[in-house]
Amino acid sequence: MNDDPTHQLPSEFVARLRAIVPEPAFADVLASFALAKPATARINTLQTEVPAALAELAALGLTPAPVAWLPEAIALPADEKRTLTASAAVGAGRVYVQGLSSMLAAPALAPEPGEEVLDLAAAPGGKTLHLAALMGGAGRLAAVESVRGRFFTLKENLVRYGAEFVETYNSDGRAVGRKTRERFDRVLLDAPCSSEARFDCRDPETWQYWGPRKIAECARKQKALLRSALEAVRVGGRVLYCTCSLAPEENELVVAHTLRRLQGAAELVPLAIPVANVHTGLARWNDKTLPGELAHCVRVLPTADMDALFLALLEKRRSIGAAAPG
Ligand code: SAM
Repeated sequence: MNDDPTHQLPSEFVARLRAIVPEPAFADVLASFALAKPATARINTLQTEVPAALAELAALGLTPAPVAWLPEAIALPADEKRTLTASAAVGAGRVYVQGLSSMLAAPALAPEPGEEVLDLAAAPGGKTLHLAALMGGAGRLAAVESVRGRFFTLKENLVRYGAEFVETYNSDGRAVGRKTRERFDRVLLDAPCSSEARFDCRDPETWQYWGPRKIAECARKQKALLRSALEAVRVGGRVLYCTCSLAPEENELVVAHTLRRLQGAAELVPLAIPVANVHTGLARWNDKTLPGELAHCVRVLPTADMDALFLALLEKRRSIGAAAPG
């Protein structure tokens, strides 16, 4: 019997991972799916300040450590997660439990106070709240979520974390661009995906729905959502596309398809992501060469501390026609 926990992962997933991740990083990336990551959280500057939150957590016997690249982020040993989650700081919306890679998205979109910003796939609201904090509660932030139960969780979180200024819509993000053409300065699309970054060797349920069909189904939806995001953003505005999948079909190929369809109406913008475990978008997949501009995309590789994330920042150069409904 093999006692390496990574042997639990679907063999097709591991084979694909080997083709996606550069060889020197492969062993560590694979091993990361078997590790209990530290508990990480973001201090909600809409309701408290960093020193006050640190003192509040320390008074509970917790040992939050700062995260070098984000002043509001903290990391705690994995065995402190239960106490953190049950704390009044979390219950009253002063601290939001959030993975480190998730905290890279809102700063990459870089919304400014006073802007009009859209989050097109928002529940449970972790990145909406981060956008709200970066905007200092000033401006317009609209959050869309299509799944009713998740929409109500989003609304509860916005109240609990002091972001009532966020407007919420229980609608299909694929239709939003047609209805709000060129209205927003920035759009976040944290797209529904096959969630490969969440695979946990100790929990086969994390990949129970995974497979080529799921990836293809996600990719279809992601293309429609990204098109909608680009319709909703103004000329000169930016869209951040991200997923927690490692699959090129949900990442580079979605971006490449969209750029090809838009024929120069949108372009990729280089991203400066402040962590070391990053690679540029793939240059090849399945024996096909991909457009060179995909090198501006970023794949955050999973480590002992953080999950995987894919990011692509697009800027709209000129107006685009509305996509056909459906
Ligand atoms: N950004 C969120 C956060 O950080 O908390 C996580 C978003 S999750 C990756 C994607 C969300 O998109 C899910 O809540 C899912 O229900 C929602 N979704 C799925 N299809 C959608 C659609 N057509 N329009 C809008 N939201 C959709």
